[in-house]
Amino acid sequence: MKIRFAVLAICLLLSGRVVFADTGISDRERFDRVTNRLTVFLSGYGLHCLAGEFMGSDYARFYATWRSLGPLDAPEYERYAELFIEEWRKYPKRWIQRSGVKAIAFVKGLCVTGQYRAAMPDNSGDAVYYDIGYRDSGEDYERECVHHEFFHIADRHLAPDRFDDDPGWRLLNVPGFKYGAGGWVAYDTPDYDNKEHPGAGFLNHYSTLGLCEDRAEIYASLFTAGYFDNLEYWCGRDPYLARKTREILSFIGRVCPEITLSWIRRMQEEE
Ligand SMILES: [Zn+2]
Repeated sequence: MKIRFAVLAICLLLSGRVVFADTGISDRERFDRVTNRLTVFLSGYGLHCLAGEFMGSDYARFYATWRSLGPLDAPEYERYAELFIEEWRKYPKRWIQRSGVKAIAFVKGLCVTGQYRAAMPDNSGDAVYYDIGYRDSGEDYERECVHHEFFHIADRHLAPDRFDDDPGWRLLNVPGFKYGAGGWVAYDTPDYDNKEHPGAGFLNHYSTLGLCEDRAEIYASLFTAGYFDNLEYWCGRDPYLARKTREILSFIGRVCPEITLSWIRRMQEEE
């Protein structure tokens, strides 16, 4: 028996297959199973799932590099897929269908203009890229990223004229406030301190770096259970932030009226 088992093990190794002791399936089968699950789940929203080898848009290939997921990534891929589905299924189909997003890409080693990133919006390819390798940054961060990066696409798609500047939104800030040079500054700052509520109107320092980051941070906090209480806490003490949060809800509500603050509260309580 022992010899037969050893021969089987050698054959599996030579064939490049590793069998998971707990599940009895190979890493390739496990990888395909996760991709199939994501493909079916995303197709319910009319979205494509990009995993394994895929091309990416000209924009994505110009500004970013990434490594394709393969069978050896199956355990981490499976973990991330569960997390992603838990977050994404909060969304009504109508919101996704109107958002302009067409595809979701799952990768590793995502590097955007020389900076490693947990996610990237590809406005040219109407896709959002997610790096599955940010377990060490904490689940709340990974969950927040799912919503934050998606919102960049929706924000630009639904209001292309005012994405880079929005005088109406600026009026919601304390008079005289000026945004920083963009979210990239945080990635270029060693030991960047994303200070919580650094001033009236802002959830965190990252929000102060750019108008689109400010909007995306508020949006993501509405949908991330681990961040929502914090948003409500500050909105109760900061009328500037409360007004901006109402503006984000109104922006969403124009294309998906069922998403309201009370709907979000109910959804977060069910979590
Ligand atoms: Zn962002």
